[in-house]
Amino acid sequence: MTERHGHFIGGEQVAPSDGEHFESRNPATLEVLYEAARGTAPDVDRAVQAAHAAYSDPRWRDLSQTRRGHLLRRLGDLVAENAEELARCESLDNGKLLREMRGQLTALPEYLHYYAGLADKIQGDQIPTSSPLMLNYTMREPLGVVGAITPWNSPLTLTTSKLAPALAAGNTLVIKPSEHTTRSILRLAELALEAGFPPGAVNVVSGYGTEAGQPLVDHPRIAKVSFTGSTTTGSAIAASAGSRFIGCTLELGGKSPNIVFEDADVSNAAMGVVAGIFAAAGQTCIAGSRVFAHRSVYDELLEKVSERAQSIVIGDPLQDETELGPLAFEAQRDKVASYVKTGVTEGARVHTGGCRPDTELPGYFYAPTVLTDVTNDMRVVREEIFGPVAAVMPFDTEAEALRLANDTEFGLAAGVWTRDLARAHRMSRGLDAGTVWVNTYRAMSPMSPRQGFKASGAGVEHGMESIREYTRLKSVWINT
Ligand code: NAD
Repeated sequence: MTERHGHFIGGEQVAPSDGEHFESRNPATLEVLYEAARGTAPDVDRAVQAAHAAYSDPRWRDLSQTRRGHLLRRLGDLVAENAEELARCESLDNGKLLREMRGQLTALPEYLHYYAGLADKIQGDQIPTSSPLMLNYTMREPLGVVGAITPWNSPLTLTTSKLAPALAAGNTLVIKPSEHTTRSILRLAELALEAGFPPGAVNVVSGYGTEAGQPLVDHPRIAKVSFTGSTTTGSAIAASAGSRFIGCTLELGGKSPNIVFEDADVSNAAMGVVAGIFAAAGQTCIAGSRVFAHRSVYDELLEKVSERAQSIVIGDPLQDETELGPLAFEAQRDKVASYVKTGVTEGARVHTGGCRPDTELPGYFYAPTVLTDVTNDMRVVREEIFGPVAAVMPFDTEAEALRLANDTEFGLAAGVWTRDLARAHRMSRGLDAGTVWVNTYRAMSPMSPRQGFKASGAGVEHGMESIREYTRLKSVWINT
């Protein structure tokens, strides 16, 4: 019989109010993995009330910051102890390589431990005043119940980057994971309870965006929405949160440039370009999907990238030798295939890939694809494809590279490959992106703040800055 999950509310599994469930499938084999609760407004309301009760309870409200840190540390330890189970769970659900998930699960406890260490360093300031008799100080307070809405591409990592600072600051949460990846987030909530967080501090309502996500955003008891997902959904969520004057952190889509200059180590750059776009089958917000190569190294780079793309081992994400798994679900695969067709109609040439690869597995596979003869006005260059598709374009001057790279509505990340230090600094300053990598791609850590510029987001995640997203500042004046 198929495994069946409820929501996780008030520290226990709770059946959906209308009894409805939906299936989650393994995108490599198409087998049904489990059924998750199909949440609707009454489930969301129940979860928010549980989170609000936990937030108001003195056992949580008056818990020392040091103790909150201890709980987060314990959660990090429990995640480490259960790493293999969590890694497999997510790999089965979204088709990410088990190898890669094991890496993410090594980083996740570090993330929780980092915020464990920050919990007792959240503090206000004493502000100078014009009179020695007047005392003015600030207090950094939690917000209340945080609604966290996350996508399917890295559920545990992206949820933890909200949960850890939110709990460190003394909030409680209701999480709405993607309908494609529920199970690992339910497990994370169970581990939070096991770590000692009170029932109701971490709640999960599973289900679809319009049925469960929207009621969460619109719930009057939510003090803040923290969203990671597409720019279209983010824009609707920001409008709803804005109309109620509640805070909103948004991590949205990208169309990041990866720029290779004539003085770069082209072999290294080619590896960086391949990792930039083909990791996780291109389903990462920071995918370097627009590749700009100086005309003098364009042919060499294209050849190296295409050679590597063609040799990528495609197959079962659970196998160690596999380098590229399937796309996470059928509509995602269809969207990628349709973008490539659109590109060809617009005049692009499929240099490599552009089809289903040769594999016996029935899942949603798509070959690593390199498009050439593309221009900056084509849809394949302007819109986020969220799949293993790189558009490669030549440029002649640094100024042109910068102009083309910045000619996008997005501003999440950018890569620069050069041996010229002055150019590296000039490009880092000029690029309109929240993260710039020079001679590397994808480097990140819990300590390093991340912000999407332009249509790629609002607010900061990771690092100390993230604590500000989950606190409010009170100014107290005392006439002594
Ligand atoms: P999505 O916007 O379709 O869904 C994200 C989440 O929002 C899901 O949980 C979904 O159920 C929910 N949702 C959908 N409609 C909603 C609504 N009206 N109200 C409330 N919730 C709603 O995105 P996706 O396809 O799951 O994820 C892929 C996108 O996420 C890509 O655009 C990618 O770039 C982006 N992403 C960004 C980052 C980042 O750090 N900037 C990281 C990962 C993914």
